[in-house]
Amino acid sequence: MASNKITIGNVEITSLSDGILEFDLCNFFPSIPSESWGPYEDHLTEEHNVRFNLACFLVRSDGRNIVVDTGLGPRPADAPETPWGELLNDFSAHGVKPEEIDMVVMTHLHRDHVGWNLQAQDGRFIPTFPNARYYMSAIDWDATHDPSLQHDRFPNAPDCVWPLQDLGLAELIDGEHSLTSELTTLPTPGHTPGHMSIMITSQGERGLILGDVLHNTVQVHETDWVSRADIDPEQTRATRRSLMERLEREGTTVLSVHLPKPGYGKIGRMNGRRYWQPLQA
Ligand SMILES: [Zn+2]
Repeated sequence: MASNKITIGNVEITSLSDGILEFDLCNFFPSIPSESWGPYEDHLTEEHNVRFNLACFLVRSDGRNIVVDTGLGPRPADAPETPWGELLNDFSAHGVKPEEIDMVVMTHLHRDHVGWNLQAQDGRFIPTFPNARYYMSAIDWDATHDPSLQHDRFPNAPDCVWPLQDLGLAELIDGEHSLTSELTTLPTPGHTPGHMSIMITSQGERGLILGDVLHNTVQVHETDWVSRADIDPEQTRATRRSLMERLEREGTTVLSVHLPKPGYGKIGRMNGRRYWQPLQA
């Protein structure tokens, strides 16, 4: 079992989780014929579903505590069996208090990355991380306000994202933005228009928090396989192709939100095919 902690130079990362999400293959990859999955059965569950971890990376850099992505959020009262809603339990299991967090960074504004930003209490929203500022892409912020996208693509933005601005906590960022001296955002658009990954550079080592450039390990090689969650399919493919080539070439450590826990790995190559090589502790 791989450890949930990793270091990149002086930066320490802990992989926490809000639980899992699971989808029927035809539902999540409607454009990929089921026979194309033949050689890739081992990338699916026994029931032939795609399963995602909902990672939240706790990053310590420059003396700051940074949370990257906040899962799907509290379990609905009428759905006690839901396999997600675990993030704050995982925080306490690892001895981390929400008030210790200085920055929350969202790779993008889809519902499974913003869920614990805020909590409703007595008819108002209060920040789950009371001492944090919340960083997000200005392009994605605008997309959540596009009436043609909001309802289907960003359904929980009105409750989980928009109130951050009224509370004076929102930081809208763009391009390659330095979050600390060791963390810089890297625009990786396609899945959402403002999607970003986060490059970690410290002591000559490199890591990349990927965001949703990958949803399944199969896409490391089959870079053209887009899912229904990818808003712009062509841009998604172009971003994924060039990023997988670069990560393979540079040997960068990858920190993936949705691949199996804890989500650490490298992009390897065997018999002419690129593959996900999980890091062992
Ligand atoms: Zn996602």
